[in-house]
Amino acid sequence: MKKIFLCSIANINSGTCNEDCKFCSQSVKYRADIERYIHKPIDTIVTEARYVESKGALGFCLVTAQKGLDDKTLEFVCNVAAAVKKAVPRLRLIACNGTASLQQLLTLKEAGIVAYNHNLETSEAFYPTICTTHSWQERYQTCEQVNAAGLKLLTGGIFGLGESHEDRLCMLTSIARLNPISVPINFYHHNEALPLSPNPLSVDEALRLLQLTRKMVPHADRIMVAGGRELLFKNRMKEIFDYGVNSIVIGNYLTTSGCDADNDLQMLHELHFGIATSPEDA
Ligand code: SF4
Repeated sequence: MKKIFLCSIANINSGTCNEDCKFCSQSVKYRADIERYIHKPIDTIVTEARYVESKGALGFCLVTAQKGLDDKTLEFVCNVAAAVKKAVPRLRLIACNGTASLQQLLTLKEAGIVAYNHNLETSEAFYPTICTTHSWQERYQTCEQVNAAGLKLLTGGIFGLGESHEDRLCMLTSIARLNPISVPINFYHHNEALPLSPNPLSVDEALRLLQLTRKMVPHADRIMVAGGRELLFKNRMKEIFDYGVNSIVIGNYLTTSGCDADNDLQMLHELHFGIATSPEDA
């Protein structure tokens, strides 16, 4: 039986980023109408962790909206990790906190984080078009440090920003070189406040990109569809699993609502898929 790895995202610090990534409503530069806070209360995060675990999630990703880690944020993420690990030990804790040094990554590992998510987002050549405040190379280096720290690497990107097909191929080639365990693929979710045009991809094009991702990163355990799933695929969502996808994000995304987790579970049930209960399952 095919098993699907379910991940969930906790936005533990929202909408406070000074970077200018044009696809991101968490940047303070674009004044998108989203909830903004420095630290989500740890009790609330633990409650969210219990809820998603009860729905079958195995991965729980602690996301902060900043360019990278500073001492205070690192301490906060470590405290959150310790509290969630104690309350819901079955969850595998992932951190997604931007650029990070080897030492910072080792500190996260000590606190119980097992994997780090840092997306390349797009190709090296196209990156300056969507972000001017930091470089693609910095992102790539953080991914290398994740591997050096002995954490599992999750790295992927976002399609539908105006990139060319060549850019997509370059991004996937770079991702494959980093040998990630999981490749999170996002589809740009347009927000009126952001300076990009709406995502031009059709469902058929998006499905072909998932297939291309699976083909070009053959050694990754998982190809995950993250942001944009509901918006883009709508009533054709089931088809993503025919194109190499074996992981999805359940519940809400960082600043947009996802499907009701029960609807996703129902969909997987109708497809006769199981839910991964260990990383080796998916
Ligand atoms: S660095 Fe991350 S949180 Fe900040 S604007 Fe870019 S994508 Fe958004």
